[in-house]
Amino acid sequence: MDFETSDKVKLLQEQIERFMVKYVYPAEAVAKQEIEASGDPHHEPKVMLDIRAKTRELGLWNLFLPDPEHGAGLTNLEYSPLCEIMGRSPLGARAFNCNAPDTGNMEIMAEFGTPEQKEKWLQPLLDGEIRSCFSMTEPEVSGADPTGLQTRAVRDGDEWVINGHKWFTSGAIGARFAIVMVVTDPDAAPHQRASQIIVPTDTPGFNLIRAISVMGSTHGGGHCEIRYDDCRVPVENLLGPEHGGFMIAQARLGPGRIHHCMRAIGMAERAFEIMCRYANTRVAFGGPIGEKQFVQEWIATSRMEIDQARLLTLYTAWKMDIYGKQVARQEISMIKVVVPNMLMNVLDRAIQCLGSLGISDDTPVAAMWREGRSLRIADGPDEVHKMVIARRELKRFA
Ligand SMILES: Cc1cc2nc3c(=O)[nH]c(=O)nc-3n(C[C@H](O)[C@H](O)[C@H](O)COP(=O)(O)OP(=O)(O)OC[C@H]3O[C@@H](n4cnc5c(N)ncnc54)[C@H](O)[C@@H]3O)c2cc1C
Repeated sequence: MDFETSDKVKLLQEQIERFMVKYVYPAEAVAKQEIEASGDPHHEPKVMLDIRAKTRELGLWNLFLPDPEHGAGLTNLEYSPLCEIMGRSPLGARAFNCNAPDTGNMEIMAEFGTPEQKEKWLQPLLDGEIRSCFSMTEPEVSGADPTGLQTRAVRDGDEWVINGHKWFTSGAIGARFAIVMVVTDPDAAPHQRASQIIVPTDTPGFNLIRAISVMGSTHGGGHCEIRYDDCRVPVENLLGPEHGGFMIAQARLGPGRIHHCMRAIGMAERAFEIMCRYANTRVAFGGPIGEKQFVQEWIATSRMEIDQARLLTLYTAWKMDIYGKQVARQEISMIKVVVPNMLMNVLDRAIQCLGSLGISDDTPVAAMWREGRSLRIADGPDEVHKMVIARRELKRFA
């Protein structure tokens, strides 16, 4: 594996870093003020729309998509350092049209969509004109083990009729459509029971109940509870093969997980920087707190943990590029545990180092902690990834 980045990636890195400094970091406070002034936590601030217009104009757009027909054609390894820079700000990914869950939806539509679906749903997402969401998890059954999903789609003539209850559908407020995981053959083997269907959010029977408050916040498009009540969509809204829902979900999860990890490394790096700057300047008991060995221990350990996590993530990206998502699935599970846990460690130390400032919202660290904590659960909890990692290893030695 070659750790040197290509000239193309170096140029993009410089451009994105400059863009973040000039537009994205300053927009953090402005966006907050605009949202507060609107009185609507889900309001998309004008400053974000302005930034998105600029990134698009500069061609810093859809960099996540390896398919050159639709995206920038970068490999996972090439995209990693760029995604890390975007992850340093909560506004970063959206600024560059590289935000979940749209990215995952674009990837599966590029791979499995019909030409008509691509024209109607994928293209406007690529153009940044609409948003979307992915509706799989249900409150009544385990999301960690989605073979128990209950939401049903029954074919009635030229339509699918969907009934069920979902929650944690991220970004549903303001989304134009949801990709919904539904049971289409309840009698089949567990992984052949489900399909994915595109449901426009203005379809009668798509009932958005609420944005669930997550650690005191309901920002952005929300993590939403939705009831599908006799929700009818045309049969051509089936995405990919009938009963192929799990296969598509798997295809979606590999890149989705690594992108989350890359952004999490960016978050950790920014929190680390904030911690070091504070440690250098905050004076207590006769000198900067950075001179105390407790604080030095936090800094040294954080540096080592971030770099270890980054190396494993880059290795995973490289392996995905060379051998494919399937061969790299062990590494994908490993980073999905390693990186969010590293992030939580670094954030906890940064918060402790910053004292009361650390738990205030005057720095991005506290909001990163909330986001980081979710990452140990979203896209599969730590325990499930550890279970599959261990099973694969045990199998090798059986
Ligand atoms: C911020 C956030 C955003 C999300 N966005 C989306 C989205 O857009 N769309 C969507 O469909 N879903 C989304 N989810 C849901 C997410 O995918 C699920 O929360 C996740 O899969 C876990 O399912 P669950 O919450 O039902 O937990 P459960 O399945 O109830 O599991 C609870 C706990 O049980 C333990 N556990 C489970 N299995 C095992 C095991 N084998 N061994 C040991 N312990 C185990 C784990 O500690 C786990 O955390 C999101 C979640 C979060 C937190």
